Amino acid sequence: MQDYRSTFWGLKLETVKKELEANRFEAFVAETEEDARSLVLESIIPALNAGSVAWGGSTTVREVGLYEPLKEERYGLQINDTYDRSIAREELAERRRRALLSDLFITGTNAVTETGVLVNLDMIGNRVAAITFGPRWVIILVGRNKIVPDVDEAMERIRNYAAPANAMKLGMDTPCAKTAVCNNCDSPARICNSWTITEKSFPAGRIKVVLINRDLGL
Ligand code: SF4
Repeated sequence: MQDYRSTFWGLKLETVKKELEANRFEAFVAETEEDARSLVLESIIPALNAGSVAWGGSTTVREVGLYEPLKEERYGLQINDTYDRSIAREELAERRRRALLSDLFITGTNAVTETGVLVNLDMIGNRVAAITFGPRWVIILVGRNKIVPDVDEAMERIRNYAAPANAMKLGMDTPCAKTAVCNNCDSPARICNSWTITEKSFPAGRIKVVLINRDLGL
């Protein structure tokens, strides 16, 4: 039986891809996590000739399975492992600072609008900083569940779903982690500090968006 959900989203993602391209992002559509991983490892990264890579916190990057393979020697990338939870907090902060000068930064996005705009909300700000400026190239992996009609809906999705769910995932002591409702808290553990709306990629093609026909991340 035909999977109408995949058919629907396949068509929708092609439309969003065109809108992203009109906004000077380089955009791709992948059907599965495996397709996205091959696309990034075998096509996008080899064409960049990047010397170093770092990551921004993203469940989608992990679900696609890019974290481990990228550390293999054959890709010739110097790794700044900003995911390594075994290191001290101060060293992790330092790695995140250095990540802003990586050739390549790989992460996810909280939302993409149907008009081809990226919307993000960060706790620390290292991810939105790198998307905005620093690394020569940024690869953003996006599940179909992150597509929303417009910026208002993107902010609604992030405030009322992605952020509380993320606070739960991270075990943060925030009101939303207990109630699943955002009350615009004043908690020291608040994970909602810096918004970015990336309307276009500058320079053209610096940001590469891989749209994936699967529900991924938060
Ligand atoms: S502002 Fe506070 S309550 Fe609202 S989602 Fe962010 S951390 Fe949770």
